[in-house]
Amino acid sequence: MSVTTETKRGGSWLIETTDAADVFTPEKLSDEHRLIGQTVDEFVTNEVLPKLDQLEQKDWDLARKLVRRAGELGLLGVDAPEAYGGVGLDKISSLVVSDHFSRAASFGATYGAQVNLAVMPIFLFGTAEQKQAYLPGLVSGEMVGAYALSEAGSGSDALGAKASAARQADGSFVLNGEKMWITNGGLADLFIVFAKVDGEHFSAFIVERAFPGVSSGKEEHKMGLHGSSTTALILQDVKVPAANLLGEVGKGHKVAFNVLNFGRFKLGAMCTGGAKDAIKEAATYATQRRQFGQPIADFGAIKYKLAEMVGRTFAIESLLYRTAGLIDSWLEQSPPKPPTDGSTVLAALEEFAVEASIAKVSGSEVLDYVLDENIQIHGGNGFVRDYPAEGHYRDSRVNRIFEGTNEINRLLIPGMLVRRAVKGELALIAAARQLQDEILGGPAAAELSGDTPLDQELRATAAFKKVALMVLGTAMQTYGERLTDEQEVLTSAADIIMDAYGSESAVLRALDTDSRKLAAAALQIDTARVFVNDAAGRIELAARDALAAMTEGDTLRTMLAALRRLLRVTPVNTVVLRRRIAADTTAKGGYPFAG
Ligand SMILES: Cc1cc2nc3c(=O)[nH]c(=O)nc-3n(C[C@H](O)[C@H](O)[C@H](O)COP(=O)(O)OP(=O)(O)OC[C@H]3O[C@@H](n4cnc5c(N)ncnc54)[C@H](O)[C@@H]3O)c2cc1C
Repeated sequence: MSVTTETKRGGSWLIETTDAADVFTPEKLSDEHRLIGQTVDEFVTNEVLPKLDQLEQKDWDLARKLVRRAGELGLLGVDAPEAYGGVGLDKISSLVVSDHFSRAASFGATYGAQVNLAVMPIFLFGTAEQKQAYLPGLVSGEMVGAYALSEAGSGSDALGAKASAARQADGSFVLNGEKMWITNGGLADLFIVFAKVDGEHFSAFIVERAFPGVSSGKEEHKMGLHGSSTTALILQDVKVPAANLLGEVGKGHKVAFNVLNFGRFKLGAMCTGGAKDAIKEAATYATQRRQFGQPIADFGAIKYKLAEMVGRTFAIESLLYRTAGLIDSWLEQSPPKPPTDGSTVLAALEEFAVEASIAKVSGSEVLDYVLDENIQIHGGNGFVRDYPAEGHYRDSRVNRIFEGTNEINRLLIPGMLVRRAVKGELALIAAARQLQDEILGGPAAAELSGDTPLDQELRATAAFKKVALMVLGTAMQTYGERLTDEQEVLTSAADIIMDAYGSESAVLRALDTDSRKLAAAALQIDTARVFVNDAAGRIELAARDALAAMTEGDTLRTMLAALRRLLRVTPVNTVVLRRRIAADTTAKGGYPFAG
């Protein structure tokens, strides 16, 4: 399934310009992609949602049946090659599946753990024998998988795990320890377990439930996702054959973190789908609910909320599909390898790890914003269980916690960019130096007001990227190797980078008028303008904070003057624009943009 899209390296969008026509957008989805989305929609609507109560009562036999059914529909094998029963589709298809799974949050977690955290590590790191032994069962859904990294004492600090793997004379290992919060813990047949060989070398293992000494703890009482199993995994003198070591001894971190990269990207997609579904609920309710003799949708305050929900969702959706396009085009350009070889996919996921973290953090925060406003639009009905709004709110909160907390991912975004720059994989240092010369040498003003639609916004996004470079470059110069200790500055840098990527992706999508109808184009332009307008304010604040923490006196004054010149964005009339967006949203009864 070939697509026309950017062929760039991960992170390079930050220092290069991109043509709107080259960016992959939801409007460019093929008929095949749309059919895949429809298959997921039908499965969720007809087979999962009607059974939600049973799942919430922990009917794991039913959960297993639904996993089987997802397997029959080919949904468990989207990322696995045909040789192991998969369908080996492009990553855009994979994104479409996650996007459409969102309405079934609990089963979405079961599904995500199976596909992203059990199938992927074996496909990416398994030997031919391991792939042959486990992938067909996982892909058909006969076997349920889980991923056991966290422990009570080591969540974010995953490498601090205490679980041990004692090497035996015959090459096998004996595992002891307790893993916490394992999704699918109560129903899985197979676990990807992380433990330290000889108390030192962090490593991954494929552990079957049938191995003597494996047991699960009780179900956790959670805030949400009640229809998904979460338990401890207890390992008591579990003998694991040498053949079940996954990857190499001491290289467990490669398995753990690369798998999470992809999981994060797809979690971002599930969050975006969830936001679109909630906009539909909010728009429908706001149209039907009357107060003071009129639908609440007619009030400006509600219009603001609907438009803001749409705008933030539009930006994250745009950056997600753009990233999927980047990954696919990178894969297409890589030297051909047999489809059973996971190394090319592994390299692609490493390449776009920064974008995956952006997708996870932005997606989970946009979703929480949207779900909070969805409750507010529902008023008292938002707080009671007769309406789905409160359930979505509880279900979504964990998205900011698992797959690496948002704090950890925020640190990773600038951290990984700097590492790539230092290794020479990204010409970020040269770009930052050039910018600094411009700033110190005279006016670096990008004149931001323009006449044609999105002219100003296009220049503004170029300026946002320069601000990101200015903050990153100054941070590298100021702190050197101690930069990792400066979390507040790194977090500000991450916020700027995320807003820059979201803004640019939204603007480029809105500009690509060839790929969709003109009416949608006008509304996308409005939406991109509002998002960029607000992003400029957020970026300025974050950059001021960071620069004031790193510089002082004349240097700070010069930098702040340059910042002001870069971000000289003429405010747009967001009231008018938001009213138009809200009107279209209520008229359409939901998220107004469709691929
Ligand atoms: C429903 C659910 C399902 C889960 N499923 C799985 C699963 O299938 N497999 C699995 O292995 N795990 C799973 N987890 C565990 C999850 O990945 C961890 O909870 C998560 O990684 C955070 O770890 P923690 O809870 O120990 O929090 P901590 O690491 O203790 O973090 C607490 C707070 O401190 C912050 N913090 C920690 N370290 C730093 C730092 N260096 N700098 C700045 N801030 C920091 C965090 O961001 C957070 O805000 C699941 C959790 C839940 C709730």
